[in-house]
Amino acid sequence: MVGSVDFDETRTAYITARMPGRLDRLFVDYTGVQVKKGDHMASIYSPELLSAQQELLQAIDSVKALTNSESSIVRDVSQSTVDAVREKLRLWGLTPEQIQQIETRGTPMDHVTLYSPVGGIVIHKNAQEGSYVKTGDRIYTVADLSHVWVQIEAYESDLPWLRYGQKVSFTTEAWPGETFKGKIAFIDPVLNAATRTVNVRVNVDNPELQMKPGMFVSAVAYPLISEDGKVANPSLAGKWICPMHPEVVKDAPGTCDICGMKLVTAEELGYVTPTPTNAPLVIPATAPLITGTRAVVYVEVPDQDKPTYEGREIVLGPKAGNVYIVHSGLKEGERVVTQGAFKLDAELQIHAKPSMMSPEGGSALMDHGKMKMEP
Ligand SMILES: [Zn+2]
Repeated sequence: MVGSVDFDETRTAYITARMPGRLDRLFVDYTGVQVKKGDHMASIYSPELLSAQQELLQAIDSVKALTNSESSIVRDVSQSTVDAVREKLRLWGLTPEQIQQIETRGTPMDHVTLYSPVGGIVIHKNAQEGSYVKTGDRIYTVADLSHVWVQIEAYESDLPWLRYGQKVSFTTEAWPGETFKGKIAFIDPVLNAATRTVNVRVNVDNPELQMKPGMFVSAVAYPLISEDGKVANPSLAGKWICPMHPEVVKDAPGTCDICGMKLVTAEELGYVTPTPTNAPLVIPATAPLITGTRAVVYVEVPDQDKPTYEGREIVLGPKAGNVYIVHSGLKEGERVVTQGAFKLDAELQIHAKPSMMSPEGGSALMDHGKMKMEP
């Protein structure tokens, strides 16, 4: 399957203005810059922030002035004002160190530095130096690329093989010879009508940042198939999973790290099927001749003087890479024609013997003519 690297949406953060003001300096002034949690991002001038600082300093002064006051109630009121303003500043994104600095200096600062609450790559700069921002306006978008998504475009014919939790390995053009691994974390319930594909999301650890969003990948899934041709998924047996975040898998009951929801068993979510005891029967994909409704293979008849083959109608399961799963009609060990089966079939039609096109045999001329009309 083919796909591409994408940002992990759950690890993309916006740095927003928490108070209205003017951005007088953007320390990160182009996209692509890598930032660590706590790095300075922008310097903002905000009248609201200025007055909040004044309010804080006044409240501190009055607490000091009331230290020897007989009225503890008045003192408590002033103290709670101090606490409330500190909290307001904290919610505006000021660090405890910045608040301490204001209190120590005793005078408000005109500009306050905003720090990054997360680490990652700045993938979008939403504001310009000198622009005014309102509360909630985005200043930067930061993406943590230590973990990325690989979005695979799976064809309808790939779908029978894909299950949640399966391992997928893939290669990229940028790192030839290197194979990366991930796990299927989401299979889109809706088919993309334009491309006739289904989006399959694979979660990938990217500690060395080798995967870059936008890169193309070539991916392979390795489903475990049981004897009856069904995909088995025993790896999650006995595990506990968040119904909303299936990537959260634990060994014991508990709650989801992401949303706090109660975990349920993988069995309950239908993710587990038992380990198969026997592998399914498969034949090379070049062996069967397939019309819309029927599949015929030519099987070697053993112990004959001359090589002899007989046509046989079989029931196939889905195709997996270079093989087809056989539901019925063949036994393990039987030899099938893998090259030239079509020639053999055409020859039989010429001789009016049963063939793929005419299972009951028939007029040699008729069938011969029909063959010629085939592309
Ligand atoms: Zn969850």
